[in-house]
Amino acid sequence: MDCIFCKIAKGDIKSTVIFENNDFKVILDVNPANIGHCLVVCKNHYENIIDMPEELVKEGFAIAKKIAAAVKKATDCDGVNILQNNGIAAGQTVFHFHIHIIPRFDGDSVDVKFGNLNKSIEEISAVADDIVKNM
Ligand code: 5GP
Ligand code: ZN
Repeated sequence: MDCIFCKIAKGDIKSTVIFENNDFKVILDVNPANIGHCLVVCKNHYENIIDMPEELVKEGFAIAKKIAAAVKKATDCDGVNILQNNGIAAGQTVFHFHIHIIPRFDGDSVDVKFGNLNKSIEEISAVADDIVKNM
């Protein structure tokens, strides 16, 4: 399979490695939203969070927490976004599970906005039962 993050995980493609264990490699994003933007990349190929075993998801987010604290200290940023995209509609471009850690600075130009749907409380709430049924 021709997957860039599998190649990065194996070391076949170079990356700046921040942390590594048996299951994950944390690298600098080559096209960062801000300086210090890191990616927590699973070493095994799972396309997205839904395909991944829960234990690995837990481990990935525990690593993301540690990296976020280190990035905050290193960059002296004002905030941190932890993002994880699943599917083209959600902005995923590399179809191999990864978590973004993005340092944020007051007034920076990174755009992570939502909340403009403008629906009534009835329209918002109608889906709740369906979500519960599918858990
Ligand atoms: P996605 O849009 O799938 O959530 O994020 C993919 C991220 O991977 C992007 O932020 C992109 O800049 C980064 N990326 C893509 N190719 C490479 C690469 O070859 N090396 C590194 N370090 N990052 C990459
Ligand atoms: Zn892969």
